[in-house]
Amino acid sequence: MRMILLGAPGAGKGTIAKLLTEYDGSVQISTGDILRSAVKEGTPLGKKAKEYMDRGDLVPDALIMDIMEARLKEPDCQKGFILDGFPRTIPQAEELKKLLEKLGIFLNFVANLDVPREVILDRLTTRRTCCNPACQAIYNVKSNPPKEDGTCTLCNHQTIQRDDETEEAINNRLETYNSKTAPLIGYYEKEGLLKTFLSLSSKDTVAEIKKALSA
Ligand code: AMP
Repeated sequence: MRMILLGAPGAGKGTIAKLLTEYDGSVQISTGDILRSAVKEGTPLGKKAKEYMDRGDLVPDALIMDIMEARLKEPDCQKGFILDGFPRTIPQAEELKKLLEKLGIFLNFVANLDVPREVILDRLTTRRTCCNPACQAIYNVKSNPPKEDGTCTLCNHQTIQRDDETEEAINNRLETYNSKTAPLIGYYEKEGLLKTFLSLSSKDTVAEIKKALSA
């Protein structure tokens, strides 16, 4: 499949993308994961991106487009890809359109995950992430907690609350989503690519997306 997952922070894009990769071997491309790894490794990209990310602001479009152009040309993308967290702005969507045309790639559709704001706020404040860059398992202190001492059940590293999951950063990320990313819903509707899924359970949404792919 060749698909974009669109949705607010905490809408479940990462979880749904991971489940979809098991369906047909398409790769998940998460710009957030790529940037977090770069920050942990202290690469030049990570050094430039960190201050934006910690505040909950978007990283400049030019940096993101360089990452994506290189990533989409990697051989594993030929099996298909699920874009998770990209594009995030109209200029990114316009650049992506040109890039896909250049590479001769057509998208199946853009899945817009519609999740009520209370559900999103609850998910983001209770989320914990394994600090091991090779693991990055996601937990929820209420529904899927790590071990009692806060370590990861898979690799025993400590789980942490991400710097951008403080209340202030979360509010900023949601405002940024509303002003910069939500306009993509109208953009992809005009392009005839949008399908909206009311998403309360990741498993149900994955089943609906699979149905739409085979329709
Ligand atoms: P995410 O894990 O997708 O919520 O991304 C975490 C952070 O990485 C965001 O709050 C942004 O600072 C940055 N980021 C991820 N993807 C993008 C993108 N496509 N454009 C700009 N910034 C991004």
